[in-house]
Amino acid sequence: MTVRISRSFPINEHVTSFIDGAPVTSKAKGHDIEVVNPTTEQVISRLREADAAEVDAAVTAARRAFDSGRWPRMDITERKDILYSIRDHLRKNAEELAYLECLNTGLPLHSVAVHVQRMARNFEFFAEVASNVHGETYTQTAGYLTYVTREPKGVAGCIAPWNAPLALASMRVATCIPWGNTCVLKPSEYTPLSMRRMVEIFHEAGLPPGVVNLVNGRGAVTGDALVNHPGIDMVGFTGGTSTGRAIAATAGRNLKPVALELGGKSANIIFDTADVERALDGALAGIFGNNGQQCLAGSRILVQRGIADALIERFVARAKKIRLGDPLLPTTEIGPLAFRQHMERVLSFVDIAKADGATLLTGGKRSAVHDKGWFIEPTAVMAPTNDARVCQEEIFGPFATFLTFDTLDEAIRIANDSKFGLVNYVWSEDLNTVMRCSRDIRAGTVWVNTPMMRELRAPFGGYKESGIGRDGPQASLEFFTELKATIIPIDPVKMHRYGAS
Ligand code: NAD
Repeated sequence: MTVRISRSFPINEHVTSFIDGAPVTSKAKGHDIEVVNPTTEQVISRLREADAAEVDAAVTAARRAFDSGRWPRMDITERKDILYSIRDHLRKNAEELAYLECLNTGLPLHSVAVHVQRMARNFEFFAEVASNVHGETYTQTAGYLTYVTREPKGVAGCIAPWNAPLALASMRVATCIPWGNTCVLKPSEYTPLSMRRMVEIFHEAGLPPGVVNLVNGRGAVTGDALVNHPGIDMVGFTGGTSTGRAIAATAGRNLKPVALELGGKSANIIFDTADVERALDGALAGIFGNNGQQCLAGSRILVQRGIADALIERFVARAKKIRLGDPLLPTTEIGPLAFRQHMERVLSFVDIAKADGATLLTGGKRSAVHDKGWFIEPTAVMAPTNDARVCQEEIFGPFATFLTFDTLDEAIRIANDSKFGLVNYVWSEDLNTVMRCSRDIRAGTVWVNTPMMRELRAPFGGYKESGIGRDGPQASLEFFTELKATIIPIDPVKMHRYGAS
């Protein structure tokens, strides 16, 4: 499926919540948040923030849909048909969703086109997985049959970030509802436009009211009200590590399980046994893909000393030629960063790097050729050691940090010397090198000789401060369902008859 944008689409003047199958229109007043186009810096919409009362209405709708609605009780073929219909409707509206996403996030169309396909595929994939759920039986104990069934767990709070809303929020919902759960989705307050349309499309596709409810607003207001609500049974969160820590603490106090997909500072290790052309392409894609705003960015590029100078020189030459521009154009490689404060934070790492003794190799400032928009030049620095803050902290922008190493052991030690453990990339044609990295790197995914390739059948998630739990068929099944053992005697059971004699 190719996604092209041939026209503009209408934008809601006010983005409101969507609860129990309908937009919230009743609230005349409330806290409004400006929705800004990062390319033009213009306000393009206003988000009407959901307060605690609106979050309560959303959780109540989700609760009703779960406790007495059709969705959890529906025959799986019908539920699967609805999820497939969601896939088809998302595809039918791909151009509009991509338009809203590019406009609101600044992500270039070539990235968003992939996200739109992923979004639709997420529903298809997890519908199929849920339709194959089966239980266990135990007959070893004489006279008894015990069987174990899986049941949906209840109402989820699903919280998503701004860096790839369609791909990531759809993942939160698609791993949750196919088992029969219902949810309240809270996307980022910075990027609500595609989210509102996505949830409308779910309903146009036949999703019963109350199964997916949308609330918008800041984390400290709307998000906090959702995580603290006694009516939710679990939280699925994708976002930053410090937010994840706060959410896990709240959920822990309320004894609610949490699945956390958090940040990263992943090593992209290039050995002298690599196919250097491909490794170079992969290193550029790993840090500049998605405007550099991706949890799985290969942001620490470790290069073996013998090939380092030549490779870094070519990386810098290519970085200087990357096409910055309007994210709606198919030729744009990097768009503006998502919002002003984020751009300022990314740029602040240039001084942080220098203070730690790093050398600026290229970029490091706002784009001189764009008089509007949060564009920054693709940036690269050479770090003195892995202790530098640019090697330890997630920058989350088009900002590469280089380090050199001499041996395989040293590369693995540097890669693991991080509080994060989301993914790692390895470039080498030597089998032993690859196998050692695969075994010894402490991260949830190791990509060998490839840029990011998301295999939905495999678990995705992080070690250490990159998260708790995984997305994937087995892991999502475990998180989003409860196990119930039913124990039945086949013959009458001999019981002690209390008080009978
Ligand atoms: P963030 O943590 O600031 O916000 C994520 C979401 O949490 C937003 O919807 C926000 O409003 C909400 N939130 C904030 N405080 C909250 C609170 N106290 N209670 C409830 N909700 C709250 O993250 P971000 O800046 O939107 O996204 C970038 C981060 O997400 C990066 O660290 C990135 O690595 C991470 N991320 C991880 C993955 C993954 O799969 N591991 C994928 C994408 C992004």
